Amino acid sequence: MFDRDTLIISYDTKRGEPRGSRSRKTDAQSKGQGDCIDCTLCVQVCPTGIDIRKGLQYECIGCAACIDVCDSVMDKMGAPRGLIRYATLNSLDNGWGRKEMWGRVARPRVLIYTTILLIVVGVFLTSLYSRPPFRVDVVRDRGALARIVDDGFVENVYRIQLMNASESVQKYRVGVEQLSQSIVKGGDEVVLGPAEARWVPIAVRVPPEVAARMGSGAFGMTVVVEQLRQGDQPQVDVREKSTFMVPR
Ligand code: SF4
Repeated sequence: MFDRDTLIISYDTKRGEPRGSRSRKTDAQSKGQGDCIDCTLCVQVCPTGIDIRKGLQYECIGCAACIDVCDSVMDKMGAPRGLIRYATLNSLDNGWGRKEMWGRVARPRVLIYTTILLIVVGVFLTSLYSRPPFRVDVVRDRGALARIVDDGFVENVYRIQLMNASESVQKYRVGVEQLSQSIVKGGDEVVLGPAEARWVPIAVRVPPEVAARMGSGAFGMTVVVEQLRQGDQPQVDVREKSTFMVPR
């Protein structure tokens, strides 16, 4: 991901070398020295202990502590700041100014990569923000298939897994759609703590005359789980498809 036009923390070797200690009043050029006074403060402040004067090293975390401390040394010595600075290898080798350097840094390839990265981050944040605050899984109870119960109602039993993905206590109500005159037993008001998951058994019943109209077989239905908020008003709901069986 690096090339000679990548902006990195760099030591200006041409300006700094040959390094050597001297007093503040001594002119570096008259001593045949560069601007680096070899105080080693840039090494001492580096959290990973590297010497940036040896060039880019993989341990560099880009904290820029060496830039700040070297600027303070240059201020005390009365020399221009920027002996260690953000620069590209090409700009240092060719002595480019900021305009030429930024002209190379902001190449079409870099702009395209930046745009793609921003789009990916945007999609990720949007999906994170718009994800439902809870998840639902519907499983038919295989131990209790369709059966006839009181007053001839046809009953199917399901296990609903509710997962509260929020950090607060939430209330949920479980219902069904696509089944005319159906009644849901259980799941009227399920309370889950923060990040809690629980299996909730529910029984869905349809009246005998409706079951007779439907005939025997499997019929599609939708389990609707509503998250209840203030005043028990549904705010968010999640829908999961399932089937309802009517026996012969
Ligand atoms: S802080 Fe600056 S002057 Fe001191 S050794 Fe590092 S590069 Fe040289």
